[in-house]
Amino acid sequence: MKVAAYYGPGLFKVEERPLPEIGDGEMLVKVIAVGICGTDVHKAVHQTVKAGTVLGHEVAGIVERVGKDVTKFKVRDRVALAHHAPCMTCHQCLKNHHSLCDQYLKNNIFPGGFSQYVKVLPEHVRGTIYPITNDSTTFEEAAFMEPLACCVRGFHALDFQEGDTVLIIGAGPIGLQHLMLACAFNAGKVVITDLNPDRLRVAKTLGADLALNPQAKDFQAILQSVGLADGFDHVIVTVGVGALYEQGVSLAGKGGNVLVFAETPKGQKMTIEPNSIYSKELRIVGSYSSSPKHLQEALELIESGRIPVKTLISDRVPLEQVGEGIERSHKATDCLKIMVIPNQ
Ligand SMILES: [Zn+2]
Ligand SMILES: [Zn+2]
Repeated sequence: MKVAAYYGPGLFKVEERPLPEIGDGEMLVKVIAVGICGTDVHKAVHQTVKAGTVLGHEVAGIVERVGKDVTKFKVRDRVALAHHAPCMTCHQCLKNHHSLCDQYLKNNIFPGGFSQYVKVLPEHVRGTIYPITNDSTTFEEAAFMEPLACCVRGFHALDFQEGDTVLIIGAGPIGLQHLMLACAFNAGKVVITDLNPDRLRVAKTLGADLALNPQAKDFQAILQSVGLADGFDHVIVTVGVGALYEQGVSLAGKGGNVLVFAETPKGQKMTIEPNSIYSKELRIVGSYSSSPKHLQEALELIESGRIPVKTLISDRVPLEQVGEGIERSHKATDCLKIMVIPNQ
């Protein structure tokens, strides 16, 4: 089978690897669509993984083989899957911090999503792989289950109520998924910021009340003109830059929540005056990755059409163009979600 393996920033090679053997309780899944994620970009650009690693984890495909004892799935089932499975029984899992479970990062799909086939382990079969039940849901749409689940989990970490105002910093694929969730969950005014005018245009079509360049001279004046001068109920920061987290905190209103949603490069800092948290009773909440419950909710939102993820797909590329796709996703000038189609 072919994989696209990582060998350094901008350097991916398509290699032939043996088809994984599967054991009891495991499955082999043929990858039909796999999204390029911001975390793949982060790993590739900041070299946080070893040479030869196969990245990619937003996978949808067809069950090709099932091991002994697998009863939940059969060959030819259409499925969406996520790469890390929590144990569901430890202290962190019982407190709903599934992504902090000791087991969470110890298991992964093999060799990685940018591959024609992946092996999934019994713990994935148990909790992070779900059948695509709506025949009209495409594999490309279902591949959004994992990233949308992360957004759903983040959203539920806010004490959100219908009618609340929301600011989303960053209109990339993740920011736009948060925007769609805010609209689907009946937020009040929703504002999104980005430097890229194309992304702001997409945000308007997806329901943003305002899509603004945060560096525009009249940024504050515009917020004031729509009654948002005192800040937002919720600020969701989807860009891993310390200064944007500072901006997020400054734009949170009284009793506001700030969702820390994007990984920052190592050593990146933010400076906040504690009194701004104290006097406005702000909550600063982190949300990393997803959980089985949120994967299911995300897939339901996709299959019911409530979250039209298809609008975020800008490109479909073969394994040979994974490196280029990651580069383009990093520059963020001419694309949104790039889907890799490994078996074309
Ligand atoms: Zn992802
Ligand atoms: Zn656990």
